[in-house]
Amino acid sequence: MDKFDFIIVGSGPAGMGAAFSILKRRKEASILMLDKRPYSTGGMRNDCKMNFTFPIGFPLEYWSKEEAERYLEEVTAFLKPDILSKSNIATYQARAERLGCSLLEIRQTHLGTDGGLELIKKLLKELDEAGVTLSLGEEMLSIDNKNKVIRTDKREIGYKAILIAPGRQGFHFLQSVMQALDVPYVDNIIDVGIRVETRLEHYPIVKDYYDPKFYFKEKVRTFCTNSGNAHVVKEKYATNRGDIWYSVNGHAFKADESRNNGLVNFALLKTVRFTEPLASGQDFAEHLGLLASMMGGGKPLMQRVGDFRLGRRSKAATFNGDLYDFRPSLDACPSDISLAMPSKILRYIWSAMKNLDTIVPGILHPSTIMYYPEIKLYANKPEYRDDHFQVKEGVFFAGDGAGTSRGITGAWASGIRASLGMLDYLK
Ligand SMILES: Cc1cc2nc3c(=O)[nH]c(=O)nc-3n(C[C@H](O)[C@H](O)[C@H](O)COP(=O)(O)OP(=O)(O)OC[C@H]3O[C@@H](n4cnc5c(N)ncnc54)[C@H](O)[C@@H]3O)c2cc1C
Repeated sequence: MDKFDFIIVGSGPAGMGAAFSILKRRKEASILMLDKRPYSTGGMRNDCKMNFTFPIGFPLEYWSKEEAERYLEEVTAFLKPDILSKSNIATYQARAERLGCSLLEIRQTHLGTDGGLELIKKLLKELDEAGVTLSLGEEMLSIDNKNKVIRTDKREIGYKAILIAPGRQGFHFLQSVMQALDVPYVDNIIDVGIRVETRLEHYPIVKDYYDPKFYFKEKVRTFCTNSGNAHVVKEKYATNRGDIWYSVNGHAFKADESRNNGLVNFALLKTVRFTEPLASGQDFAEHLGLLASMMGGGKPLMQRVGDFRLGRRSKAATFNGDLYDFRPSLDACPSDISLAMPSKILRYIWSAMKNLDTIVPGILHPSTIMYYPEIKLYANKPEYRDDHFQVKEGVFFAGDGAGTSRGITGAWASGIRASLGMLDYLK
């Protein structure tokens, strides 16, 4: 049986952060990095927009400002981001404040979906050259921590310390690991909302600030804005029973004037926290996702703002390419999102849309499309034994699936933080 000092499961930013940190601090260690896919499937592969300002991407229950900034320094020094310039921010901020909203100014870079793949390939090559064993296309299935062995779809492998960082898509997998290891956890917070798609001229702020971070009342915020060659996409999720539902998302390719489609998309999300008797945000999210999927014949839903304001369902005929129209970038089902969305969430999202239209006039143009559902399931909150995200002797978690981050840089930082615990454990 193959044996390694460190196994890292997941080649996303959390796994990468840990691998490079271990290499930097203990060069001679034997490291195996596994991923069930040829390339990581999270944010580095999709849009790759990186934020370098606290608290973006850092859940406050795990990160103080000082701590996050200390790790961000190491992330920044490694990734050497080309920070995007911004303009007219004070004007937008003043407009937002008049409405009781705020606009956070952050340091950000955008590589795009294609640029992200280039970065992943470069990082994998560096790891390979530094002696890390890479096994891409191998899936971890289970763990036996008494004997320090994991089972994959190909073999059994021994470890001294292991980092499991399977991302949001690994939500169910991580829960199965926690159940096997008897690690208590909750997943009581989710984000639910819509993705807005409109023409560039109806959301011109993106020329001044690529991904503007607006915060509205009632815990609604803008998230993950894409423009240029921008597309709305769907992510597939399966429940434990095997039922399929989709969450929408968005991405853009790297800046290239000749390929721009003239569209912008961004999410408007409402954070929802559950208390007794509902303990699982994931169960709630799955019900919402399945309802939308049922209404959309297996597709996410979309509705024009014009139809929404009139209380009318959008139909195929409303996407007819007339003068003020644009083709939706996602093949979703024309529908009535208010039939599928909990009214309290919809009310808050609509209120945020109205505020946003006052700050950046245009977003409520009748042709603007609202896609539903966009759901973020990153709130697995395991009971950690220490500050380095150790859950059992030698077993560490990090990244979005483990609730220690909500973005690429936060995931990278949490990978570094977990690696320090792993190195200490092996001393
Ligand atoms: C479509 C999309 C776009 C996004 N865009 C951005 C963005 O632009 N900017 C941003 O900051 N954040 C973005 N995010 C969020 C982003 O994915 C995360 O913040 C970040 O990638 C989390 O890093 P991670 O290492 O925790 O997980 P991931 O990057 O998701 O990596 C986890 C890896 O683990 C692998 N894996 C899972 N289970 C197993 C298993 N059992 N065995 C082996 N391998 C396994 C997966 O294949 C995956 O490659 C996006 C997310 C999605 C889904």
